[in-house]
Amino acid sequence: MTLETTPPWDDVQNYIDGDWQAPSSDEGQDVVDPATGEAISYVGFSSSDDVDSAVSAGQAAFEEWSNTPVEERIQPLFELKQLLEDHQDELAEVLVREHGKTLAEAKGELRRGIENVEVACGIPSMMQAGHLPNAAPDIDETAIRKPLGVFTAITPFNFPGMIPLWFLPYAVATGNAFILKPSEQDPVVAQRLFELIDEAGFPDGVVQLVHGGVDTVNGLLDHEGIQGASFVGSTPVAKTVYERAAANGKRVQAQGGAKNHVIVTESANLEFAAAKTVSSACACGGERCLANDVIVVEEGVYDEFTDLVLEEAAAQTVGYGLDDATDIGALITPEHESRVRDLIASGVEEGAELLLDGRDVEVDGYEDGNFLAPTVFGDVEPEMTIVREEIFGPVLGLMAVEDVDEAIDVMNRSEFGNAASLFTGDGADARKVRHEADVGNLGVNAGTAAPMAFFHFGGRKDSFFGDLHAQGEDMIHFYTDKTIYIERWPDS
Ligand code: NAD
Repeated sequence: MTLETTPPWDDVQNYIDGDWQAPSSDEGQDVVDPATGEAISYVGFSSSDDVDSAVSAGQAAFEEWSNTPVEERIQPLFELKQLLEDHQDELAEVLVREHGKTLAEAKGELRRGIENVEVACGIPSMMQAGHLPNAAPDIDETAIRKPLGVFTAITPFNFPGMIPLWFLPYAVATGNAFILKPSEQDPVVAQRLFELIDEAGFPDGVVQLVHGGVDTVNGLLDHEGIQGASFVGSTPVAKTVYERAAANGKRVQAQGGAKNHVIVTESANLEFAAAKTVSSACACGGERCLANDVIVVEEGVYDEFTDLVLEEAAAQTVGYGLDDATDIGALITPEHESRVRDLIASGVEEGAELLLDGRDVEVDGYEDGNFLAPTVFGDVEPEMTIVREEIFGPVLGLMAVEDVDEAIDVMNRSEFGNAASLFTGDGADARKVRHEADVGNLGVNAGTAAPMAFFHFGGRKDSFFGDLHAQGEDMIHFYTDKTIYIERWPDS
């Protein structure tokens, strides 16, 4: 099969009980290419009837799927892995057209998604839960993991090819049924992913797709046939989703927004650190929950490091995501672009020094696109809006501090705790930051602290609500419950 990559595309469809169906509410919105401003598809929103149908089909499928031998359950995942490999280029192209990011970024995100499918193929080992003979006199104890039913995941716009795969493979490999509600801003990648899922050989109802917005999400969170929900998106929505799902008695994990710091010490390789810092802050247009955009630098190297950052940032090429020369593509919507512009204006008003202004950028042939070039502030302060709030654009601010202790203090004052990076040549500084940083992902001489799929991915404080995170072993715990068998066989 070949996946359709050239827009305009047909309206996206739900995938319920093995069938493609149009979402049935009257609401919906255009899917717009962020680089051209043109509508390239349309997403209708699912009604409560659509949600009901998906949940009922999931419950029916769960009966048999949860009793299917694990070795059989992972066969469609092996198939899906191969299909994703075979169609990675087509998926990446679709992703660029509806998201605006570069082709390299799109391929990178799909690779990260595929890694999760690979890890979930190891479920026969990962799902084992332990056995202890002679746990007590004449007693053996065995823990077994059981799947729970129908789960859902609600995912954001910024990694539409990867984030659904933080959840989907683990949910079904453990024997559950799964319903994805992708972002309505770029839902076509999910549609293409499900065209591959349709080929992969899952029984009907095991993996399903419902499109929609707020009402669809609330319909899923309120549905008593759903056992648990995963959410990834902005902090206010993550908190609401967490509270609503928990109030409805569901398991829930909700990953929110971020404000990530870089600490640069005097012993760091400054050129390396500057390149990684700019890439972390600006790649994907800064629309990454791991974007590091508050750069805290020991004062002895502040001026030198600032010059290196400015050189790197000015060298970035802003353009159309499918052009090879492009480093930074378009932002998702004009509304988001103007929010980032407002934040830049707030930085100027609040007294930060605007060292590089990316607001006047123009991309030939894409005059209606949502483009911003790297924007660099110097002398930012902890209380400034651009230091406190997530920007989600190619904007970064530099701040001088006396030493690593002050840098850690600045970082830990943030309401968020998703990620941070440290650039240093000093093991003692690295150890200190490792022990004291209040973040979920910490890179040492690594600009974007993204864990591989066999490690969990998740933050702290306002970046995460729940306990078990996405990816890897945490997902096995989230998608199963343990029963302990305590066995004694007295002599008759
Ligand atoms: P968003 O919160 O606007 O939307 C995320 C999902 O929630 C979408 O599917 C959307 O349809 C749904 N939604 C939106 N408003 C809702 C509401 N009021 N009630 C119920 N559902 C609602 O987020 P976004 O703009 O798509 O994504 C960007 C955000 O996601 C950023 O804040 C980013 O940091 C965060 N993010 C976090 C991580 C992480 O791992 N912590 C990863 C990726 C993105």
